[in-house]
Amino acid sequence: MKIHEYQAKEIFAKYGVPIPPGRVARTPEEVKTIAQEVGKPVVVKAQVHVGGRGKAGGIKVGNTPEEARSHAEKILGMDIKGLIVHEVLVEEAADIKEEYYLGITTDRAARRNIVMVSAAGGIDIEEVAATDPEKIARLHIDPAIGLQDFQIRQLAFEARLPAAAVRGIGPFLKALSKVYADYDCSLAEINPLVLTGAGTLIAADAKINIDDNALFRHPDLAQYQEAQEDDPIEAEAHKRGLTYVRLDGDIGIIGNGAGLVMTTLDVVQREGGRPANFLDIGGGAKAEVVTKAIDTVLLDKNVKGIFFNIFGGITRGDEVAKGMLEAIGTMDITVPIVVRLTGTRAAEGLQLLEGSALTPAATMQEGAQKIVSLVNAA
Ligand code: GDP
Ligand code: MN
Repeated sequence: MKIHEYQAKEIFAKYGVPIPPGRVARTPEEVKTIAQEVGKPVVVKAQVHVGGRGKAGGIKVGNTPEEARSHAEKILGMDIKGLIVHEVLVEEAADIKEEYYLGITTDRAARRNIVMVSAAGGIDIEEVAATDPEKIARLHIDPAIGLQDFQIRQLAFEARLPAAAVRGIGPFLKALSKVYADYDCSLAEINPLVLTGAGTLIAADAKINIDDNALFRHPDLAQYQEAQEDDPIEAEAHKRGLTYVRLDGDIGIIGNGAGLVMTTLDVVQREGGRPANFLDIGGGAKAEVVTKAIDTVLLDKNVKGIFFNIFGGITRGDEVAKGMLEAIGTMDITVPIVVRLTGTRAAEGLQLLEGSALTPAATMQEGAQKIVSLVNAA
């Protein structure tokens, strides 16, 4: 599980790590209030579970509360690598002189946790590892003795940190390794660790990933889990106004009405298929919505076939059929689509579909059997 920067900072703060004063906000007005409380220039930071927020325009310094508010207006709602920003962290801007990298992860091959320190902080460590691997000092932690002071000095020296930082990073690395162990992390990073103009060290960014298998040992983290919307396709579907839930199978399911879609999932499962999603296009679905629904389902590259199950009431069968024909006409669809249409204007709808690439089905069960065999044959 990934947690947000502000959540990771809350944890690090408990372990005595200096972090800039501030807190999380959900509206531009809140951002302004926090900036006023801080009383100094602040940095407004998008809280999404992805790195490279700065480059994407999700991190901006506001010199006045009003400027911070106006930055927040742009950052809140922003799409960063498919994730929508719902929260921003507002904290005192750091006076950055230098940026370093501190991180711990598990080295499975060595069956040890590994500490990494680099003077080339602030940027993606993967990039440093690829272009200048010698700029990263590494050390495996002996689980019996933990991280020792002499090892910390050695790491700092190998990473060529300046004297001011060599003296200061001890408590940061010790806290990092303690958090790593206490919270069953798979990754813990401070990037950048900032050396300020005044010569002090502060954690300007914090990242913690927790091993999902250990989550049951950390009930205090459950609050962090609820609030997240991690799946980029779900996020996109919700932006498009669709009721969509991603599942882990390969058959896309589209229907009108939540109950009908739920039943369709069960029937497909019973016929040996694995649904890739839940998508309810609701009542009165017009051609445009149908096209949007097919397009959304196909964002999931695991989808090998689509089962459309439409029970016509308010939704007219001929409208749905037109939508499907439009979709397959304008999109490059390479997967089989099975359509079950019944109810209002179903006969007209099915007639429209005749001679198209779509496979009609008279009942839900027949439709489920057809899509399962088409997907299995593919
Ligand atoms: P990430 O790119 O998503 O990992 O976000 P970071 O929190 O690491 O910030 C990226 C970059 O934004 C940092 O390396 C800094 O250069 C800049 N930045 C972040 N916080 C501050 C700040 O408080 N003041 C200033 N001047 N720059 C900042
Ligand atoms: Mn960072």
